[in-house]
Amino acid sequence: MSSNRKGITVTPDKFWDHCGIFGITNQPEAARNVYLGLYALQHRGQESAGIVTSSGSRLHVEKGMGHVVDVFDERRLERLAGPHATGHVRYSTSGASFLLNAQPILIDSWRGPIAISHNGNLLNAAQLRYRLEHEGAIFQTTSDTEVILHLIARSRKETLEEALMEALLAVKGAYSLLIQTPTRIFAIRDPCGFRPLTIGRLAGSWVFSSETCALDLLGAAFVRDVECGEVVKWDAQTDQLESTFIPQTPKPAQCIFEQVYFSRPDSVVFGKGVNGSRQAMGRILAEESPVEADIVVPVPDSGVTAAIGFADGSGIPFKFGLIRNHYVGRTFIEPKQSIRHFGVKIKLNPVAEILTGRRVVLIDDSIVRGTTSKKIVEMVRAAGAREVHVRISSPPTVSPCYFGIDTPTRSELIASNHSVEEIREFLSADSLYFLSLEGLKRAVGDRGNFCTACFSEDYPLPVETDLNQLDLFRKET
Ligand code: SF4
Repeated sequence: MSSNRKGITVTPDKFWDHCGIFGITNQPEAARNVYLGLYALQHRGQESAGIVTSSGSRLHVEKGMGHVVDVFDERRLERLAGPHATGHVRYSTSGASFLLNAQPILIDSWRGPIAISHNGNLLNAAQLRYRLEHEGAIFQTTSDTEVILHLIARSRKETLEEALMEALLAVKGAYSLLIQTPTRIFAIRDPCGFRPLTIGRLAGSWVFSSETCALDLLGAAFVRDVECGEVVKWDAQTDQLESTFIPQTPKPAQCIFEQVYFSRPDSVVFGKGVNGSRQAMGRILAEESPVEADIVVPVPDSGVTAAIGFADGSGIPFKFGLIRNHYVGRTFIEPKQSIRHFGVKIKLNPVAEILTGRRVVLIDDSIVRGTTSKKIVEMVRAAGAREVHVRISSPPTVSPCYFGIDTPTRSELIASNHSVEEIREFLSADSLYFLSLEGLKRAVGDRGNFCTACFSEDYPLPVETDLNQLDLFRKET
């Protein structure tokens, strides 16, 4: 639990958050189209939103803290003139002082104005920043992303394309990027391709989006994914896309958690429909952990699609035994004087007529700290359930993510230091089973091209080394 800029109580149910990026070319109402795109990507980040447009030789930016609909009104959208635009929705851990970190980040350099939107996390940003600051660079944010802009601006390479490539070779980690100048947009994925980025076509416009659900909203056709390690350049003069690759061997390690939880089920991510993957996770879970029960109940919304798969696979009927209040955001204000802590009841309410006397299979996508799951099990039991069997559609989350997901530390992850039986006891569940890693890989069609590190500790990049360096850096400065 943390506080936002207004001192309001914030009670996120899961600590999985990152960012979404969206861009469009050649649209008379470019800013409004990006507004819509970001609206469809809102699930990827709810703490700030921003849009950059280009007209003539200038870039215009508007950004603020909050949801897309809170940040932008008619007046702000009117100010965003120009036919080409990119935008960003971001998660950050706290409020007003972090407005500076809202993206897109825009700088004026000797190469002209450049704006950047980033989904991911750079592993060596602290070291690079340390070096750049000692060379005289003045940073306007505390975000890792700004390092890329400084590397581009300070490069001695002649062209922007060469400077960009030099910057990309210097950074390590996860990055799906949209970089905009007055006449160009670059759509880039790191050589591991941790985060998704797709290309779409809408009449005469090119569209770039973290997920295909945003293309659907605009009526844009999916063209293809930006490939791992690819730099796609759109130039206003030619109106064509040009592709080059970062001269590093691509090492696909796409985030498997995008399929488990982050992405919307109506998106196609890494070439695979998320809905289909999640249903397969549920079916395989039913195969791996059969149980005698009367109904399958999802924890809404995160467990819904896997629960449909589990019901299919087991033949046990699917029921909405928990109802979610969709209007509760991160900024719910609890009564200050009340001795009663509403907790999970603010979001979820059990349907007693469905649950009473029933043996329930309760499905969710993951267990993080375990505290929310414990309250949900208690709630289902209190509503009259005879038995509660918890089934989780991913393996135990044992280690943190360093590639752009804000996860708890290892010590806060219940599965990192407790056995499945200990977790079952903590939840007071009648039984508990997590999908196996093999089962998860089968569900998403993994052929060695996914990162599974938060389940397997098999990090695709040497994070420990870098983080040790980071610690050293912190101690020195
Ligand atoms: S560590 Fe987990 S959340 Fe992070 S990129 Fe890998 S699979 Fe995704």
